[in-house]
Amino acid sequence: MKVAVYPGSFDPITNGHLDIIKRASKIFDEVIVCVLVNVDKKGLFHIDERVKLIEKVIKPYDNVKVESFNGLLIDFMKEKEAKVIIKGLRALSDFEYEFQMALMNNKLDSSIETVFMMTNAKYSYLSSSAVKQVAKFGGCIKGLVPDQIIPDIMNKINRG
Ligand code: ADP
Repeated sequence: MKVAVYPGSFDPITNGHLDIIKRASKIFDEVIVCVLVNVDKKGLFHIDERVKLIEKVIKPYDNVKVESFNGLLIDFMKEKEAKVIIKGLRALSDFEYEFQMALMNNKLDSSIETVFMMTNAKYSYLSSSAVKQVAKFGGCIKGLVPDQIIPDIMNKINRG
């Protein structure tokens, strides 16, 4: 069984992320979305809230599930017996960082492959931080994130 892990911060999940998930679910037997805890970054949503938002939007995909992990991605991969990391690539700016991460992960465990999927052109400008900025200043986030989580994002922003 080919298990792939799609890691990230997903603070919150966007249509760009969901597009990668959908496409990956057609290629692999199972896709595990992994919300990684980043001690250097304080997010808008708590890790458990991010997982809940992802759970809401992956329901249509039977072979996709979501978990969170506090630690090295490689250790999560071992736990799940997964050998493939999926990464989405947007502009050139993503390349250098992702290139470094892929080589580092391969150095830590040479049986791990990172597979890059090109962003859908529709979402190439989209990031979680851009969504948060737009929402914070009252802009419309329809089309940027799945419709069913728009109220969750607006509530969070308005409360915070
Ligand atoms: P961000 O906060 O920048 O949205 P994440 O850490 O949550 O990023 O992203 C997780 C993964 O999803 C990374 O591999 C990232 O390159 C990818 N990704 C993020 N946004 C998009 C997008 N719009 N299209 C394709 N891939 C994306």
